Amino acid sequence: MTNTDTADAAATSLQVAELARAGSSLVRITVNNEEAAHAVPEIASRLADMGLSVPLIGDFHYNGHLLLARYPDAARTLAKYRINPGNVGGKRRDENFRTIIGIALANDKPIRIGVNWGSLDQDLLTQLMDENARADAKRTAKEVYIEAMVQSALRSAAIAEETGLGHNRIIISAKVSGVQDLVDVYRQLAARCDYPLHVGLTEAGLGSKGIVASTAALSILLSEGIGDTVRVSLTPRPGGDRTEEVRVAQQILQSLELQNFNPQVTACPGCGRTTSTFFQHMAEDIQTYLRDQMPVWKERYPSVIDMKVAVMGCVVNGPGESKHANIGISLPGTFEDPKAPVYVDGKLMVTLKGETIVSDFLRILDDYVERKYAKSSTVAV
Ligand code: SF4
Repeated sequence: MTNTDTADAAATSLQVAELARAGSSLVRITVNNEEAAHAVPEIASRLADMGLSVPLIGDFHYNGHLLLARYPDAARTLAKYRINPGNVGGKRRDENFRTIIGIALANDKPIRIGVNWGSLDQDLLTQLMDENARADAKRTAKEVYIEAMVQSALRSAAIAEETGLGHNRIIISAKVSGVQDLVDVYRQLAARCDYPLHVGLTEAGLGSKGIVASTAALSILLSEGIGDTVRVSLTPRPGGDRTEEVRVAQQILQSLELQNFNPQVTACPGCGRTTSTFFQHMAEDIQTYLRDQMPVWKERYPSVIDMKVAVMGCVVNGPGESKHANIGISLPGTFEDPKAPVYVDGKLMVTLKGETIVSDFLRILDDYVERKYAKSSTVAV
């Protein structure tokens, strides 16, 4: 999701482009006011000028029914509308929601019903709390919250279908900020409906905390087969790189062996056997080289995303890991002979020495990629 002012079409289209180029399949933009709604077609047009056709999802709160009605070009341009049932209006909630569904129908768009822990339908929550207070077997407040989220999502989906939207035009999400709560709410949703589920830990936080918490939550759910689209929500540092969310999401999917996006580098953590920083620099250089090459390699060698590269610090695990990788190098640890065996497809290919170990290895890597992953060499006969 972008964090630019959507009304600033130039800045928003540039950030959407960055996210799409980083690998995001869908990009959500907030449509929070008239200026933002007005800017949506221009954002799409700027993206088209850049040769990008990434679907744009409009994120609506409070006034989605008004904006979508007043800005038909925005309604036509957006690929999907995200609606938060807790924020579509008080007494006229169902009426407003139906207005949005009517516009989705007229434009042949799917919707995502996105319930959020922090903006839950208060009427429904109060009703469930009251029922729980009268019940003999009482549930905890957290269990009531989770039930309210599930019911809110399913109730909105039922209204959307009654209004005419097809069952297969509805996606559901129910995001919370606690890992275990997220797992609980999605397990309930998966058991009680067959709508596609968009999963992600909301407000996951800053830096490593956000990455680890998102990974923990998504790993459990995705391993259970729960989740059809994912979002990693990280709080960026001031001026930070928004595409980090995309890279983390890709790494989660790749680590779970659900989808490959980039060649993977297996690197040991280093220890007292690698007292110089040479090994750390080499691991970093190879990782950077792979990332820099990917835009070109993706076109020329699409299946290179399956490649595994090992960069190891010494002979203890180096040759073993290298043999399991497509291509691997094992550097000399402290007190070892100053040479670096390179394994290709499990066999010792060459032993590198001297100052040019890194550049020699990258040359071998380039040759290997060209030989192994060129489009023509993958054609089955
Ligand atoms: S492979 Fe060698 S350098 Fe790397 S962690 Fe293991 S023992 Fe240490």
